[in-house]
Amino acid sequence: MHTRADCQHADLRDPLAPLRQQFELPDGIIYLDGNSLGVLPKAAAARAASVVTQEWGSGLIRSWNTAGWFDLPARLGDKLARLIGADPGQVVITDTTSLNLFKALAAALRIQQHAAPERRVIVSERDNFPTDLYMIQGMIDLLQQGYEMRLIDEQLPLEQALDDSVAVVALSHVNYRTGHLHDMAAVTARAHSHGALTIWDLAHSAGAVPVDLTGSNADFAVGCTYKYLNAGPGAPAFIWVAPRHTDQFWQPLSGWWSHQRPFDMAVDYEPAAGIRRYLCGTQPIVSLSLVECGLDIALAADMNEVRKKSLALGDLFIQLVESRCAQHPLTLVTPRDPARRGSHVSFRHPHGYQVMQALIERGVIGDYREPEVLRFGLTPLYLGYADVWDAVQVLKEVLDGETWKQERYSRRGAVT
Ligand SMILES: *Cc1c(COP(=O)(O)O)cnc(C)c1O
Repeated sequence: MHTRADCQHADLRDPLAPLRQQFELPDGIIYLDGNSLGVLPKAAAARAASVVTQEWGSGLIRSWNTAGWFDLPARLGDKLARLIGADPGQVVITDTTSLNLFKALAAALRIQQHAAPERRVIVSERDNFPTDLYMIQGMIDLLQQGYEMRLIDEQLPLEQALDDSVAVVALSHVNYRTGHLHDMAAVTARAHSHGALTIWDLAHSAGAVPVDLTGSNADFAVGCTYKYLNAGPGAPAFIWVAPRHTDQFWQPLSGWWSHQRPFDMAVDYEPAAGIRRYLCGTQPIVSLSLVECGLDIALAADMNEVRKKSLALGDLFIQLVESRCAQHPLTLVTPRDPARRGSHVSFRHPHGYQVMQALIERGVIGDYREPEVLRFGLTPLYLGYADVWDAVQVLKEVLDGETWKQERYSRRGAVT
């Protein structure tokens, strides 16, 4: 695909193209940031209005039963389960990814305290999303039992980091910055062969790449709904626990929603059987309700088609940037090998921040991540091949014309 006309032809043949109609996309915008905040499903505005005016406004407290509010975390978890190779009853949608990671880590460490109490190492990745590393550090500090974090990186590959002292391996399936994709089944098998349990962060995977938690024999997983699942800003996250672990121990954020009979109002804690023990307290029902709108669109798409198109958009983007912007100092930081990348593509540029601000002002919305990384999310549900062509054209104009050098593009907002 070398011309815009080639891209338009590819759009006409694209089996996922009709799904774009289900999203509200502002005119004049090419949105390449669906890996950070997904777009608005058209159904979500109506759903929000009905939850607020009918279920809350008219139903009032009766809606906990009559509108199914109480069961939402598990009912929507069952839907999400289909996207990550899990079964009904294994997922709840609740809290944030950070909190869910804390719960999963606590449960995994408790299991190991019984199985192999001498294990004191939690392996993660230096390049992991910082919240994952911060939550691990918080847990270590809380426990005060001599746990340590061991970070894999170019100097310390996973094979060398694994030994008999490792309790848990907590990794992001797709790296938030580079888009690098781990082989979940292979890494899990390797961790298990050393007696370690795995926690997978699927923030950049759910709805973006095929995931098979059951087939990979994974132990725990957490992830976001507001990225590729288009659930809305700050929408609740999810947690999955392999059934062999679920009822072994309870997680320490043992609020009343995780109790076996919350409305007994008993003094003593008794964890609910099954995945409900991973809940904590009352959920943000308006926000949680909207998760379903994005999930329904994702479930209507064939995940293999989504993956195929995601990789084709990525190949096209890489090829166009490297050919049309060849004289500029852009370096691909995403693996070129399709089997090793997720659904976004990142390039380094020495003035990446300014370049991204100039792109955004021209309606091409991606984002910037330290250090120097321009990040472009390629979301097959609502992006086409011609969009990719047009985005690269704008990038070329910004770089050729050096418009990014204007002073206003250096100012930083609170969120980058
Ligand atoms: C986006 C992201 C998060 C976000 O965590 P929150 O608690 O929802 O803010 C966590 N982990 C990874 C890998 C992410 O990409």
